[in-house]
Formats: sequence, C-alpha cells, structure tokens
Amino acid sequence: MTGQSPPPPPPPPGPATGGSGGFPTASGAPVTAKRSWWKRWWAIPSIVLGLFVMIVMIGVVAAVSDSDDADDMADDDAVAGEAADGEDPSEDEPSDEPEPEPEPEPEPDAAEDATLNGDLEVHYLDVGQADATLFIHDEVTVLIDTGDWQRSDVTGYLDALGVDRLDLLVVTHPHADHIGQFDEVMAAVEVDEVWWSGSVTTTQTFERAVAALEESTAAYEEPRAGQSTTLGPLLFEIVNPPDDVDLDDLHDASLSFRITYGEVRFLFTGDAETSTEQRMVDTAGEQLDADILQLGHHGSSTSTTAPFLDAVGPQVAIYSASEGNQYGHPHDEVIERVQGAEIELYGTPVNGTVTVTTDGSDWDISPEVE
Ligand SMILES: [Zn+2]
Repeated sequence: MTGQSPPPPPPPPGPATGGSGGFPTASGAPVTAKRSWWKRWWAIPSIVLGLFVMIVMIGVVAAVSDSDDADDMADDDAVAGEAADGEDPSEDEPSDEPEPEPEPEPEPDAAEDATLNGDLEVHYLDVGQADATLFIHDEVTVLIDTGDWQRSDVTGYLDALGVDRLDLLVVTHPHADHIGQFDEVMAAVEVDEVWWSGSVTTTQTFERAVAALEESTAAYEEPRAGQSTTLGPLLFEIVNPPDDVDLDDLHDASLSFRITYGEVRFLFTGDAETSTEQRMVDTAGEQLDADILQLGHHGSSTSTTAPFLDAVGPQVAIYSASEGNQYGHPHDEVIERVQGAEIELYGTPVNGTVTVTTDGSDWDISPEVE
C-alpha cells in the first residue's frame, strides 16, 4: 500500500496548443486594404480550410472533455466506495492511470531473511533453581526471566557479557524463581520493553518487581497466543496463554513463545505443565516446531509430555535447575524421554551456563562444563 508512487500530473490539455495552425495571417501585421485578384481568390479556399480545421478541433475538444468527465465520475464512485470500506481514499487517486505498479513484496519475516547480520548468542544462564536466558545480537538484546529471589547473580552476568540495555525483558510468570531479580535488573540496565503474563501474586518479590516496573519508563505488554512480532532479526511467536486464560493459575498462564533467528528456532514455555502443553499442541500447530527447547518447569515430570515433545521435535533440550534441588528436578522420566528420543540434553546443574551460538542456519553449543 505504501510503495506506490504518486500519479504523474495530468498532461496539459491538447487543444490549447493547436489553434494557430491553419490561419495564414497570425502575425498581427495590418492587412492591406487592397489585394491582387489571385490573392482574393486564394483567400476563399484558405478560409474554408480554416473553418474546417476549427470545426474538427472543436469536435476533438468536446470529445476529450466528455471523456474526462466520465473518468472523473468513475473516480468519484471508486473513491466513495473505498471510503465506505474505511480505506484512505487518497491511495486510490490514480485509478485513471494505466495499471498501477505492483505493490512491493511485504517485508520478509526475519525467519526468511537470508542476509542475517552476524551471530546470535543465547546464554542459558546458570542461576540455580530458577530461569534466566539471555539473547545477545548486535541489533537486539533480550532477557527471559530474572533468576532466583535468594540470589543476586543476574546483573553480574549482564555486566560480564557487556549488556547495559535490554530491548526486551520477558517474565514468563511471576513466581519468585522467574522474577527473582527483576528489580535489580531494572535498576542496573536500561529496559525498553517488558512482557509479562499478566498474573499477579502477593509475594514481596512480586511487590518489588511491580514497584520497579512502575518506576521505569519501559513499555509494558501482555502478549497472547496467536500474536507475533519481530525485534531486530528475531521473530517472536506467542503460543500461550490464550486470551481467556485464568491468570490465577500462574503456571497455566506462563508466557510461552518461539524465537526464530534465520532458520533456527528456540522454544520457551516457562513452567507450563501437562494440560497447558496439550492446549499448545492443540492450538499452536507448527509454531511449536523448534530446534532448541528449554524443558518446561525446570525438567519436572509435570511437563515435557510425550505428545508435546513430539510436536516440538527438538534436536537439543536444555533445562535450568540447581544441583541437588529439593524438587528433584530434572525428573528421571523426563530425562529418559528426552534421551530416548535421541535429543541432545544439557542442564545447568551439570553443564553450568550453556551457550548456543548460531549464524541462523547452524549452531554451536558450548557448555561451561563439558
Ligand atoms: Zn519455575
């Protein structure tokens, strides 16, 4: 709609330039009172010819004028029709022009952009029994969840990795192992935008997070399943929660989404559990397909069900938990399911921070501990 050039100005009306052609005495010189006989006789056919030309030209002018009127009326109708459809009538001005230029192709999705600029690094940070994952690219930096409320390590990672601003800070849900250091992050770096599931709790960690959000100038969104957006070269597709979710169920409302860089797709589901995974399988379809999956709920058996794992079809799975945690995460049956499907498995209790580096087609995984 926007690439169409304005119509060229209409050509000047033709008849105005043709008026002098048939008349032999246009110089303005005084006509002599007396002419020779042959000149007088010659004047008769000249006058006849001149009248003929005038008649023809009047006819042409009338025909052109009628045709313009007809076009103008057609334009008026077209404009009225478009305006009734709620579109900007100015876009339709040139309808009496020949075929308009074809509209430019829509911007390609980041996923289809063959000219990606540099590598994307994804750091599945070792933050104990909690989540914090950092996407770093020349054009965009994103943090997903903010670690454990009993620790203070996330801003140290940001500092060590040279991150002093975040284009986006995503909170999958407001449990204290996901919003743990939200207030510290907001205080330490500039944050452009915050996404949050919309759930609330009554913990002090939550109260601190809300206060930090209210003090900041960051934009705030509660994305919902079916929405998608791009941020630099990253494509975000939201797969949970749906519009009608019960926000009181914090895990069920976990903000879940796929991030695509080139051809490489990362999936995050927060602490979504069995019924939530099933709803995603039923509703999100191919948007669940991913190469690298963060195991839901820290590798708990409440999550990573067989149908969900089948739907995602990852080549790599990464979970975040602390060594010897009281919940027993990750649970054996999840580990067995993942390894049984020959999916490469990493976990922060075993491997420390796990970093995925990708150019948008291939990826390299470097765990802190092999
Ligand atoms: Zn959690």
